[in-house]
Amino acid sequence: MRLYPLFADVGDLPVLVVGGGGVAKRKAQALLDAGARVRIGAPRFEPELAAWIEAGQLQSFHGEFEPAWLEGMWLVIAATDDRGVNQRIAACAKERRIFANVVDDAALSRFHVPAVVDRSPLVVAISTAGAAPAIARRVRELLERVLDHALGRLVALAERHRARVVARFADTASRRGFYDWLHDGSVLALLRNARPAEAEQAMLAALEAAGPAPAQGSVALVGAGPGHPGLLTLQALRTLQQADVVLYDQLVGDEVLAMARRDAERIDVGKRCGGRQVAQEHTHRLMLAHAREGRRVVRLKGGDPFVFGRGGEELAFLRAHGVACEVVPGITAAVACAAFAGIPLTHRDHAQSVCLLTAHGKDAADAWAGQAHGDPRQTLAVYMGVEKIEALAAQLISRARSAETSCAIIENGTLPQQRVIVGTLGTLPALARRHAVQTPALLIIGEVAAFARQHAWFGALVDAGPAGVPDRQVCLETAC
Ligand code: SAH
Repeated sequence: MRLYPLFADVGDLPVLVVGGGGVAKRKAQALLDAGARVRIGAPRFEPELAAWIEAGQLQSFHGEFEPAWLEGMWLVIAATDDRGVNQRIAACAKERRIFANVVDDAALSRFHVPAVVDRSPLVVAISTAGAAPAIARRVRELLERVLDHALGRLVALAERHRARVVARFADTASRRGFYDWLHDGSVLALLRNARPAEAEQAMLAALEAAGPAPAQGSVALVGAGPGHPGLLTLQALRTLQQADVVLYDQLVGDEVLAMARRDAERIDVGKRCGGRQVAQEHTHRLMLAHAREGRRVVRLKGGDPFVFGRGGEELAFLRAHGVACEVVPGITAAVACAAFAGIPLTHRDHAQSVCLLTAHGKDAADAWAGQAHGDPRQTLAVYMGVEKIEALAAQLISRARSAETSCAIIENGTLPQQRVIVGTLGTLPALARRHAVQTPALLIIGEVAAFARQHAWFGALVDAGPAGVPDRQVCLETAC
């Protein structure tokens, strides 16, 4: 290791920054945040720095660098754009045994300022010893995605009760076991879920009990989004990376599934057995059994778990059985497909509301019959509607909407094989047949659907409308 890693407590210590520009300002800010007494020296200061000096937040030296500025300093950062000056600062600092950092100059620096992931009081510092700061930044971005934002609160809680933990667990092995439980168990989840009082209670209860409670199972209902792996939320990614078991649906793509912890057990509950999907009750029983064994279960669903995903039933079942649960929303198909087809679901001139509908399920037929859906300024987004497209279109035309209403079918939305087919209520069933539209496909009905014609931006755009077909029946599809 070329550098000795070190976190320095500069609280109330005098430190020097040389330079008056934006870089010097950032360095001074970081030192001020750490509680140092910052002195800054330069011939001129950029306006914000000048204001801080004016307000007495930091002291200053005006003029060219002089060695006397280093008097009494614990460390110095050289942030001038003159290599000669920076060199002189580094040499003078060395003579006086003061640690010096020269911005962007590893060779002249005695200490380096790392890239940082801040979950204070937990801080991760990353350095490449100046070899490739850009790669340190990439690693930082990676850790930003993976590290739970509640970790800082967990560490602060541990700090508050540190003495009790030490008193309760005398030997290091049992203490480590307790901290493992604190990190992996319900406490971190409670902090993440904005329940700090319950988190503290759980920790104190464990401290009073005979030992750390056995690992408590939990279930997270996680939305995987519409298929594109980049559309997974950060929270979904983190939850997946902690899961012991993943129960996933048919709509969840391999790329999303690959983001789960490598050794997590993956169970397909969307598989069709002899034409029938795994029964919902079976999924309920599986979730419960795994959670009761103390495992962290992720129930991974396409789109959002609470939009035509039966997430409501699953949550109610799990809570009725006393299982700790959380719900991680996902980007639902209507939102994702519309965006990827260039269709704004609402529009100041064309649509003031959106209605999410399904053409499938217990009460779908009643819901369709009971509602007119006649407002031309409302966009309808229909899930699971492909198979019934003929009946749906006929019903809407007979009761509510003009046959000229714009419509779009988005098949495999957000995936490389996405196809967007634009037509009208009157022409759509025939278009769907002609292009052999398959599930999953989402139907968008309303004037905004016509925007796909000009604004579809994902995949190649192919005008597949046969000669003689009016303009409004253009089919846009990707080349693959
Ligand atoms: N919970 C999911 C919906 C599940 S119902 C969500 O929030 O998106 C399944 C239906 O969703 C499919 O029949 C289809 O209508 C729609 N759907 C899901 N993913 C889709 C995709 N990538 N492209 C088009 N439609 C999709």
